[in-house]
Amino acid sequence: MRLVVLGPPGAGKGTQARRLVERYGVPQLSTGEMLRAAVADGTELGRAVKAIMDRGELVPDEVMNQMVSDRIDREDCRNGFILDGYPRTVEQATALTDMLDRKGTKLDGAIDLKVDRAMLIERIAKRVADTLAAGGTVRSDDNPETFARRLEEYGQTAAPLLDYYRHRGELVQVDGMQGMEAVTRNIANLLSG
Ligand code: AMP
Repeated sequence: MRLVVLGPPGAGKGTQARRLVERYGVPQLSTGEMLRAAVADGTELGRAVKAIMDRGELVPDEVMNQMVSDRIDREDCRNGFILDGYPRTVEQATALTDMLDRKGTKLDGAIDLKVDRAMLIERIAKRVADTLAAGGTVRSDDNPETFARRLEEYGQTAAPLLDYYRHRGELVQVDGMQGMEAVTRNIANLLSG
């Protein structure tokens, strides 16, 4: 099963990706988590992207495409993957299609989680509160200013990306406003239908 999970920040991409991993037994590839790990480890990549991420801007396409290409070449992705947070631009989507073409395969679906702005803001506030309550460290880009910037960024890049997948017949649109069980069930039903 090869899926990408699209949707604005706070839409539940990570949550749904983790649930799809359990259902389909393929790894989750979260580009945001991969980048945060690189920053935490102080790698060359991490040092290059930290300031961009802190501003809530997008890391350049070439960097992202190389990172994803290297990752999906690994053995554990032989039977598929759930990509979350990538692609974010049409350039990235085209690069992913080319990578899969070269392997003689394609996506089973591009899942778009539809959630309205008020609920996104509510969910991010909850993510921060839950993290603090659990004694964890809040993501440096989960503050109100950066979150607004990330939402704006998504607003600008989402429409062409959704069009790209719609034209390819790969777009699977799901109401992301329901509870997480219902969302997962809907995704699975749409994929098997
Ligand atoms: P996320 O965890 O998906 O919200 O990503 C956190 C941050 O990592 C984003 O705000 C971007 O700065 C960067 N990032 C993650 N994935 C991508 C991507 N596909 N293209 C560009 N930047 C990305």
